[in-house]
Amino acid sequence: MYYPFSWFKSIVRLCLFLIVFALVGWYLDDMLLAVALGATGLLLLNYWHLYKLNRWLWHSRKMSPPSVNGLWEHIYEGIYYLQRRNRNKRKELGALVKRFREGSEALPDAAVVVDAKACIIWCNRLARLELGLRWPSDAGRRLDNLIRHPEFIQYFHAGKYHYPIEVPSPLNPQKTFEDRIMPYGEEHLLLIARDVTRVSQLEEMRKDFVANVSHELRTPLTVINGYLEILAGSGDELDPLTQKAFLEMSSQTQRMQSLIEDLLVLSRIEASSERIYENTVDMPAMLRQIKLEADALNKDKGHTIAFHLDEGVKIYGIETELRSACSNLIFNAINYTPPGGHIDVYWSVTKDGVKFAVKDDGDGIEQRHLSRLTERFYRVDKARSRKTGGSGLGLSIVKHVLNHHNSQLQITSVVGEGSVFFFNFDAEMIASQDPVL
Ligand code: ADP
Repeated sequence: MYYPFSWFKSIVRLCLFLIVFALVGWYLDDMLLAVALGATGLLLLNYWHLYKLNRWLWHSRKMSPPSVNGLWEHIYEGIYYLQRRNRNKRKELGALVKRFREGSEALPDAAVVVDAKACIIWCNRLARLELGLRWPSDAGRRLDNLIRHPEFIQYFHAGKYHYPIEVPSPLNPQKTFEDRIMPYGEEHLLLIARDVTRVSQLEEMRKDFVANVSHELRTPLTVINGYLEILAGSGDELDPLTQKAFLEMSSQTQRMQSLIEDLLVLSRIEASSERIYENTVDMPAMLRQIKLEADALNKDKGHTIAFHLDEGVKIYGIETELRSACSNLIFNAINYTPPGGHIDVYWSVTKDGVKFAVKDDGDGIEQRHLSRLTERFYRVDKARSRKTGGSGLGLSIVKHVLNHHNSQLQITSVVGEGSVFFFNFDAEMIASQDPVL
């Protein structure tokens, strides 16, 4: 509530007060002394009010102010009003914080908030249970002193939070957590840790299953294929239908064999823990070898294939994997470009690193397929892919190889004009580069 205050009235009242003292002084023949006494009285009265105000502010339990008049009433009411307003605000904020905490306690994930200095501001119940944080004793302690997994520490300090990482739980190494950090506000960070143990176990099981099945199928298929080749070879003794059946069976088992080989390559790359920075690959030399295979594959198609290689640019990586990725892209260009096309293969230094690209002037691929091309067994035109003998795993292999080498497959394509499949490596992936002559 606002109490109107009039300075004019207040000054008039002060003047009247002093005039009364002046008149009394005039009557008693000492006007100055009387006015001085009046002013001193007024001063003492104000000191008394200050004393009362101080008592009320610091020592009284009463919310409502003492009843006084004049200017002091106005001051008391003002302070009382501000106090009431602050109290209501505090209540509202308290209720908001309570609701937020209750909400985050109900989260199915562990959540921790840290400030710009990596000190814990707050954590929820699951963070205490799953990450071993203690509350409130860990408040203000650095998060990287409490979660000590090296991968987490590296992720925490790298500052690149656009992807999550998977790390074992600090309390139970059997459990896997997906840690994701989200920056917000004034350099605050929110860590969300989600239990993905079951997902990663299923993923492991899937990888093992595919690898084992492919491995187990390999031997019986080799035996069947061997016998079929012998039987199909003894052509003269067989009637044409049986011979045709043997030839067809032989070609289908070969297709199955190449499918299984691709599945095994994919499983090997997925499970690979080889370090990419321990070996160097002479890419131009490797691409020249692939060129020989490409020329052999190109016999029927008659494409014009040109390799544009920046000589002497070696990179860190795993040769078998990179060979598989590059040859898949080159062979795809040969297989999916109509006869007589033009294919260009580039290995060139760029301003940020080095780039590999395969460009063809084939039929191109519609935009809607591009994002799905690297899925296993995804084909644009199933019938045509089968005819070319493709397993549908080629681009999946490329994706995994590049993932392992910290890169990504990129595709641009225009229907009727052709496609470009390319990837870049950062400058730090370049192991050596011949000086430009
Ligand atoms: P596949 O073993 O069937 O070739 P890939 O994973 O290598 O499988 O390729 C997936 C699909 O992408 C292919 O079926 C094909 O339709 C399409 N594709 C790949 N490369 C090209 C290309 N250079 N031009 C047109 N289509 C392509």
